[in-house]
Amino acid sequence: MLSFQQARQTILENAPPLGTELISLVDAVGRVLAEHVSAPWDMPLWDNSAMDGYAVRTVDCAQPPCRLKVTGYIPAGGLASGMALNPGCAIRIMTGAPLPSGADAVVPVEETEETSGEQVTIGAAVKERQHIRFRGEDVPAGERVMAAGTVIRSPEVSMLASFGRALVPVYRRPVVAVLSTGDELIEMGRTPGAGEIVNSNTLALAAAVREAGAIPRIIGIARDNRESHREKLAEGLQADVLVTSAGVSAGDRDLVRIVLEELGVKQVFWKVGIKPGKPTAFGLKDGRPVFSLPGNPVSSLITFEEFVRPALLRMMGHDRVIRPTFRAVLREDVKNRESDRTVFLRIRLEREGERYFASTSGKQQTGFLKTMVNAAAIAAIPPGRAFLAAGDEVDVHFFGSYIELV
Ligand code: AMP
Ligand code: MG
Repeated sequence: MLSFQQARQTILENAPPLGTELISLVDAVGRVLAEHVSAPWDMPLWDNSAMDGYAVRTVDCAQPPCRLKVTGYIPAGGLASGMALNPGCAIRIMTGAPLPSGADAVVPVEETEETSGEQVTIGAAVKERQHIRFRGEDVPAGERVMAAGTVIRSPEVSMLASFGRALVPVYRRPVVAVLSTGDELIEMGRTPGAGEIVNSNTLALAAAVREAGAIPRIIGIARDNRESHREKLAEGLQADVLVTSAGVSAGDRDLVRIVLEELGVKQVFWKVGIKPGKPTAFGLKDGRPVFSLPGNPVSSLITFEEFVRPALLRMMGHDRVIRPTFRAVLREDVKNRESDRTVFLRIRLEREGERYFASTSGKQQTGFLKTMVNAAAIAAIPPGRAFLAAGDEVDVHFFGSYIELV
């Protein structure tokens, strides 16, 4: 049986970035840049004032206080052309306005006193170049400011916008087909009767796809017979990625792997040394990833988190596809009956001083969803540890996008 690390590595090797597309800048936040970006022009494009104040010549202010004649006014968006600063004079200037020729400093308005509107008094010494933003000082034309692979956040949007980039090349987002299987499932809309449960996995997995930044396509439910499986799986295989839930264990109605093989999916592995999630299968259809996740709602979400999410991120061009791990101290003993597998505990986290403390978020059986809702993070216990004592340190990572510390 593959170890957790081997399985994830195998998946990542089979999930290369998809192609790229040009999209409008406003839609690009969260996406990954597919090309390097260099400045098309100097930023700023001309010398300008960093303050509301007066453009002056330092030589005129060598011995404060000094009194200067106000000979002009340049607002933001104004032009400095034809407005030279003469000896003994000052020009009133607003933040961002172009500097008039002859000026070598700006004195903030707070450090001046205007008398009569025609004269200004400067009380303190003035340093050459003060409060001026020089042409190209932020970014000179031609400088590479973002490499391909950069995740676009609002600061990147800001810079791309300032370069006039209305369209940006980014990696494509995979369309991820989500399919549940099982005769016991009903769709939302009525109260389940005896033997029925609401199909929650489809929406949970679609939500997880969306959280990862990809595009879910809901295929619905395949019933526990070959015809239904064939029809629904074939539909799902049209997408960039297929994620199924349930029907992948060793039960006599577990048809997913059998029918996937009939449909030309090459199985790469089945069964991984993890708990929950052992029956997870991974295959490829013409190079496109196919994930068959177990049906228990906890198992399907955890295997999505640990296997599918990193793969989707890689397909979308991300370099960092695995969440950062940190150490937390266990608050309680944890018995580990499956010590030959990596065990994922759903945990709460608290921070005290410099340290994080982990406590389980409730009963860890895979059938119990509440632990998932109450968990801020997942602790991954490597194989070989049959017993963990309160005070032991464990590796922990957050999951989900909007989790805060308790
Ligand atoms: P299976 O892998 O088909 O044996 O399913 C394992 C468990 O997961 C069973 O208790 C199922 O009822 C449950 N399950 C399967 N599919 C879903 C689903 N789509 N939504 C919620 N629970 C499910
Ligand atoms: Mg089933």
